[in-house]
Amino acid sequence: MARPTARLTVLSGPSGVGKGTVVAEVRRRHPEVWVSVSMTTRRPRPGEVDGEHYHFVEDEHFDWMVANGELLEWAEFAGNRYGTPVAPVREQLAAGAPALLEIELQGARQVRGRAPEAQLVFLAPPSWAELVSRLAGRGSEPPEVQNRRLAIAQAELDAAGEFDAVVVNDDVARAAEELVGLLTAPPPDLRPE
Ligand code: 5GP
Repeated sequence: MARPTARLTVLSGPSGVGKGTVVAEVRRRHPEVWVSVSMTTRRPRPGEVDGEHYHFVEDEHFDWMVANGELLEWAEFAGNRYGTPVAPVREQLAAGAPALLEIELQGARQVRGRAPEAQLVFLAPPSWAELVSRLAGRGSEPPEVQNRRLAIAQAELDAAGEFDAVVVNDDVARAAEELVGLLTAPPPDLRPE
């Protein structure tokens, strides 16, 4: 039986690097691209829509999903939990279509363990100075939360070497197109000689 070409692609990288912005640009330019909607115990930020940006749930609901094996991966990040519902991802790949996850590093490592064929893409800032200014500029959180995110981001930058590909977020549209190219690229063993 021919191996399906659809792959699971994980976009990860430091907080504040612009993962969400790049994925929003992918959706805008390529509405056909399927992007997983995560569960989170975080409260919605202004403008965030339940079921679109996240499924916003209570701790008990999240506990239930973990206990029942409903999450492909999950992690605690800056005091909240985030996880990828496994069923929609399975459905997508079974239908032979690519699936994109936008998650932080601990989750990316779990996906690597559970689905070694997944493609891990690291979104890198053009420079560390740029990342610090983006994290500070977000302004929606108190300084202690921003500092926590910065410490995590530093450790996350060091992890780029574990990834299959690195996309530099120097320009959102360019980075989005590079990511879409990776999404639709066949797995390495199917590339022509
Ligand atoms: P935010 O609270 O800013 O929306 O997201 C915080 C971090 O959680 C980001 O780095 C984002 O990529 C990550 N994240 C979002 N959804 C998931 C998920 O389902 N699993 C994991 N492991 N991380 C997630």
